[in-house]
Amino acid sequence: MSEFGFIKARGWIEVIVGGMFSGKTEELIRRLRRAEFARQKIQVFKPVIDTRYNIEEVTSHNQTMIKSQPIEKSEEIWNHLKDDTQVVGIDEGQFFDQNLVQVVQDLADRGIRVLIAGLDTDWQAKPFEPMPTLMAIAENVTKQHAVCVVCGAQASRTQRTGKALDKALVERVLVGTHDSYEARCRDHFKPEVVVPFQL
Ligand code: ADP
Ligand code: MG
Repeated sequence: MSEFGFIKARGWIEVIVGGMFSGKTEELIRRLRRAEFARQKIQVFKPVIDTRYNIEEVTSHNQTMIKSQPIEKSEEIWNHLKDDTQVVGIDEGQFFDQNLVQVVQDLADRGIRVLIAGLDTDWQAKPFEPMPTLMAIAENVTKQHAVCVVCGAQASRTQRTGKALDKALVERVLVGTHDSYEARCRDHFKPEVVVPFQL
């Protein structure tokens, strides 16, 4: 039996989505640690672009961390994959291109449990590929929420805020943390760059 209460095939896909600060990375690390407790061999990958913290580690906003392999393209997973790996974790899935979908399918078809965490929407609340497609093909999807910094309600959106305004306005990808993003609920989210609520 599994933590979902039914007998699973060996290979499958679990997706963890939500806005920034919703605990995706913490949840990914929690599941990976549980797999390690079960003496399963794990490998963790993250996109090179995510340079916010230590390059060799996946790190949550809460500073929980796990060792990871930075890669530029999802296909590089095949170069690093060890024969005895049973669980593959991937963080910041939205920073990979659409090929991630095929890589993840092939890993699961090989009997590997694949966990992918990533943003389901971008700073304009638009679906952020390849996460929506991964959600569709996954065996299991978890949607997480942060806390709205304005009112304390469940936050489903990632608000882009003031600093580096010019850059923030044009680029879909602006790697940052509290300096350029806030967790907001539907009521307090605007699909534009705003002055930070928490200064
Ligand atoms: P994600 O990977 O989804 O961006 P992390 O797992 O890195 O999220 O970080 C989650 C942690 O972020 C929480 O446990 C909490 O300590 C912190 N945090 C900071 N701001 C908020 C917020 N507005 N709502 C919820 N958690 C927040
Ligand atoms: Mg994260």
